[in-house]
Amino acid sequence: MIASEILKIHEIKKTPGRIAIINALQQNDQPLSETEIKSGMNEMYDRITFYRNIQTLTTAGIVHKIVIDNTIIKYELSCSGKEHTHHNEHAHFYCEECHSVTCLKQIKIPEFNLPEGFMYDDSDIIIKGTCKKCSHQITTKDLE
Ligand SMILES: [Zn+2]
Ligand SMILES: [Zn+2]
Ligand SMILES: [Zn+2]
Repeated sequence: MIASEILKIHEIKKTPGRIAIINALQQNDQPLSETEIKSGMNEMYDRITFYRNIQTLTTAGIVHKIVIDNTIIKYELSCSGKEHTHHNEHAHFYCEECHSVTCLKQIKIPEFNLPEGFMYDDSDIIIKGTCKKCSHQITTKDLE
């Protein structure tokens, strides 16, 4: 589904900034930081508009925000065409060596039995450790 169609389905006004954000996220299968999204937007980027757009897209459920800590925030597209589910359904891995965030699509977020009166919106499981690339480097270094 192209960016303008996604916005249309959600009844959100099409703006070049919103389209650029969706395009950037679609081109990558891993979550992106603001800086990474910005690099694909060129002169279209401005900080205030970016935040407003991200806010609109997140509220609409089009974009899922992954908060690692207050300095590392990543975004990914959560509006998938066919099933059109908005809940983040997989865990994320944060590498403490290279600070990358990887989608772990094989690790599903379970259904939570919330106490009465609580309403579910979204959740995220963030696993911290060393990613495949970095753990490989550590092992080869040890062998030398
Ligand atoms: Zn959607
Ligand atoms: Zn790493
Ligand atoms: Zn993900």
